[in-house]
Amino acid sequence: MVSPRAVAADVLVVGGGMAGAIAALAAREAGARVVLARRAPGATALSSGAIGVAPDPLALPGEPLRAAREPLEAARRLARLRPDHPYAVLGERLGALPEALAFAARVLAPLLAPPLERPRFLATPFGTAVPAALCQRSQAAGDLLAVDGALVVAGLRGHLGLDAALAAAGLERYRARGGPRAFAVEVDPGLGEVGLFRPHELARALEPPGAAEALGRAIRAALPAGAGAALVPPVLGLRPEARVPERVAAAAGIPVAELLADVPSVPGVRLQAALEAALAAAGVEVVQGALQGAGPGKPAMVGADEITAPRWVLATGRFVGGGVVRRGTLREPVLGLPVQAAEGREAGVDLAARPAASLTGAARSGPQPLLSAGLRVDALLRPLDGRGRPAADGLFAAGAVLGGHEQASDGTGLGVAILTGYLAGRAAARPGGGE
Ligand SMILES: Cc1cc2nc3c(=O)[nH]c(=O)nc-3n(C[C@H](O)[C@H](O)[C@H](O)COP(=O)(O)OP(=O)(O)OC[C@H]3O[C@@H](n4cnc5c(N)ncnc54)[C@H](O)[C@@H]3O)c2cc1C
Repeated sequence: MVSPRAVAADVLVVGGGMAGAIAALAAREAGARVVLARRAPGATALSSGAIGVAPDPLALPGEPLRAAREPLEAARRLARLRPDHPYAVLGERLGALPEALAFAARVLAPLLAPPLERPRFLATPFGTAVPAALCQRSQAAGDLLAVDGALVVAGLRGHLGLDAALAAAGLERYRARGGPRAFAVEVDPGLGEVGLFRPHELARALEPPGAAEALGRAIRAALPAGAGAALVPPVLGLRPEARVPERVAAAAGIPVAELLADVPSVPGVRLQAALEAALAAAGVEVVQGALQGAGPGKPAMVGADEITAPRWVLATGRFVGGGVVRRGTLREPVLGLPVQAAEGREAGVDLAARPAASLTGAARSGPQPLLSAGLRVDALLRPLDGRGRPAADGLFAAGAVLGGHEQASDGTGLGVAILTGYLAGRAAARPGGGE
């Protein structure tokens, strides 16, 4: 039998998605010895790769371009309307949002475009526009408020992942609100039967010398007069160092951007890889495997490693990451913390114990208690027990494991992960664990 390797750290982060990685990087920057345990990629790797922070809750449906608010103002509005949302629970600490976003932009600088004062409005394959406070460099040129001329949606001949005509028709609706004219074209990337390629296979096929350039030349040949930028499917390379977006744009002769991705998401995989590169560069020890343990100060097992740390950040995600599971009732499986669900003005453990089917509503636009179920925390991000008291000394939580937000669909998922990861990581780095 292999004897366990004993590892001591100041901070143990459980979870390797956006929240866990940002928590680990923030704690490391504050001088802590940090170990991060992660089982697998979670929701971060499935995301569009663009960072939603706070869609303006006062914007009318279909009018996102008018809601060009800076993220903190939009988050404050959202917090006033949704008292369970982590932005509301944080109280005054919500004011750290710009600092947390700047931190994420800095540690992920090779991947992310420099932020603007307003969100960028990025196009989905369905022709809708989504606000993003931060986005990948490969997505930035598609900002609907910044395109100088017409926007050309370039479908790849034979590729079934994008109906360029549908996307362009959808984007045309934003013209009256400050968006560009949109056209659809079809181009042949010269890669053979692309209809059979999955997104990551297409992305890899564009990386070798000549492939990105051929796509760029095909786009150039198809451009209508007055084109200001081209949108392509989100397949511009898996490895940023292959510089596929830059090479396609150089050959096309105009700015080229990826549309936002649906699952499976090449930009989501790129985001996850960039987080892992940042952790390695910062000297965070990453251990691979499912963590089992009883909480801060007690030994926890991850594979053959026995890790002891006085402060933990639980960043285990929601249903995708495995931070909340349904075994009869909704449960937090690592420490057995109570999961709460909210319905109208009622919130609590009792709701989370109801059958899952009774926690969803028929109207998709209405509140869905199941989708916002998670841990309840105080303003210091300390998980609360069933009586509303901090569950354990030195324990913090961040990201999608927190309840009160519909992380996959309300446009705040990665923003909450960045802000709460940043605050939890910094708090955990301090020996007292608090302010
Ligand atoms: C399909 C989809 C698309 C989305 N698109 C967007 C988008 O475009 N923009 C946006 O802003 N948000 C989006 N979201 C929401 C956003 O992706 C999530 O809110 C965010 O990624 C959550 O990050 P996280 O770090 O909290 O969790 P995750 O990324 O899920 O990470 C959880 C981590 O915890 C680990 N873990 C769990 N249990 C254990 C254990 N016992 N031991 C060790 N490790 C463990 C997992 O392996 C994983 O590494 C989307 C979500 C989904 C599901």
